[in-house]
Amino acid sequence: MDAPYAKLEQLEPGIARVLAHNPSAFTYFGTQTYLLGENELAVIDPGPDVPEHLDALERAIAGRPVAAIMCTHTHRDHSPAARPLGERIGAPVVGCAPLALETVGPRADASFDGDYSADRVLVDGETIEIAGKPIVTVATPGHTSNHLCFEYRGALFSGDHVMGWSTTVVFPPDGDMAAYMQSLDKLRHREDRVYYPAHGPAVTNPQQYVRHLAGHRMQREKQILRLVGERTRDIPDIVANAYPGLDPRLTTAAGGSVFAHLLDLERRGLVERQQDLWTAA
Ligand SMILES: [Zn+2]
Repeated sequence: MDAPYAKLEQLEPGIARVLAHNPSAFTYFGTQTYLLGENELAVIDPGPDVPEHLDALERAIAGRPVAAIMCTHTHRDHSPAARPLGERIGAPVVGCAPLALETVGPRADASFDGDYSADRVLVDGETIEIAGKPIVTVATPGHTSNHLCFEYRGALFSGDHVMGWSTTVVFPPDGDMAAYMQSLDKLRHREDRVYYPAHGPAVTNPQQYVRHLAGHRMQREKQILRLVGERTRDIPDIVANAYPGLDPRLTTAAGGSVFAHLLDLERRGLVERQQDLWTAA
């Protein structure tokens, strides 16, 4: 399959997409940058700071005013192009907060964009308008603590919270499984007609899909509880048993997700930890 890098794809009236050329085991074909609006625009998840992608975005914007360049979160495949694009086209960076690195110990690793800054930080429920139509902020911590989704004309731009091709990586200490599950639950109580994720195809059955994702995590949690109930185990042992046939490139991510489950179970008093070893409480 030829991925449509650097091409403007019109998905529906007022919603278009440009795919960045940063494919990987974590980004699928790459980061999908969305353009909202017709005469006045907003840009969601400008992506990596790659000249080819910035050129493609500038061509797609075609001189139209951009009210906001919005980031769902500050992983390096989402936000680094925000400031360079803003400087090219004269638009503010609006959206998620920078990660508060020092307040709770070192939360971030090399996958985070440490240079990110916002001209305006949006909180849950806050809106900005393009051509009189609102873009509504939906706070969805879990994948990262600063993750936001944005709703526009019934479509939810779901970033990495809900993706169309893979389950979301929840990697401690910044990733938090309990917060992620609450943020999934939050989406179940909404009536969005479609999700446009940063990676993978659109999700056209949001309610059913979110129920499926939540069920998958519950199954994973049960499986981890069963494994540490059999005997004391470390995380590599749990990963080897819980993810048979896993792509070796994803072993670290799977270990992170298992760790996120274990921390959540520990908080709920269901598992105990001694150094790197975990056992049922
Ligand atoms: Zn991410």
